[in-house]
Amino acid sequence: MRKKVIAGNWKMNYNFHQSIAFIEKLKEEVLKKERNCDIIICPNFIALSEAKKIIKDTTIKLGAQNIYYEDSGAFTGETSADMIKSVGCEFVILGHSERRTIFKESDELINKKIKQALKHGLHPIFCIGETLEEREKGITNNIVERQLELGLSNVTPEELLKIIIAYEPVWAIGTGKNATPEQAQEVHSFIRNYLNVEYGLVVADKIIIQYGGSVKPENAKDLLSQPDIDGALVGGACLKVDSFIGIIESC
Ligand code: PEP
Repeated sequence: MRKKVIAGNWKMNYNFHQSIAFIEKLKEEVLKKERNCDIIICPNFIALSEAKKIIKDTTIKLGAQNIYYEDSGAFTGETSADMIKSVGCEFVILGHSERRTIFKESDELINKKIKQALKHGLHPIFCIGETLEEREKGITNNIVERQLELGLSNVTPEELLKIIIAYEPVWAIGTGKNATPEQAQEVHSFIRNYLNVEYGLVVADKIIIQYGGSVKPENAKDLLSQPDIDGALVGGACLKVDSFIGIIESC
């Protein structure tokens, strides 16, 4: 039985002081009772170090929203895997559709970042998903398969178990229009079958596949009750303590 994993992708929101106030409040709420899921928060880089200090005695885990694939050097503005590890991150979001579209990240680049994260003992949260146009053309599975194939190139079965896959249909991200539980389950099941064929049943059975795209307290329970949906990657709704807790309580 896979334990659900709820992760919050804060994106470019909250300055240092706002981030700290938010995490203090979230911690207070999370600690009110035992939780049935793993909880990950992914604030901006500037808040990671202080965030770790606040959550250190809790089960809340820390993730970053990006890394570069080199160890160090002349890469102005970039942040390395070792850097985020050194402030207590265990996870890193890679392949997010905003990185793919706005920052033109290719599947090959994402693969390099995934390999680099794994090399440093981090758990990538590897995002994949189709655009509305691709869904309407009926090529969702082809897109997802290609993203998996290229993004996971040269990843071993042992390494794959360190990765969380996040299926995030692009048309559902930040739009308020979530995939229906049936639509999401269909793709999650396709992903698990693909991993079964490529990596074997043991890996496919254990790997966490999150759904992301307009998850809210109101729709979380139905999405999370699908057999192949093992958690959620949450954007907008993770920016309010009440709604993030509402999603956590749906587990
Ligand atoms: C995301 O950005 O990963 C995301 C799922 O955003 P939202 O929940 O706002 O759709």
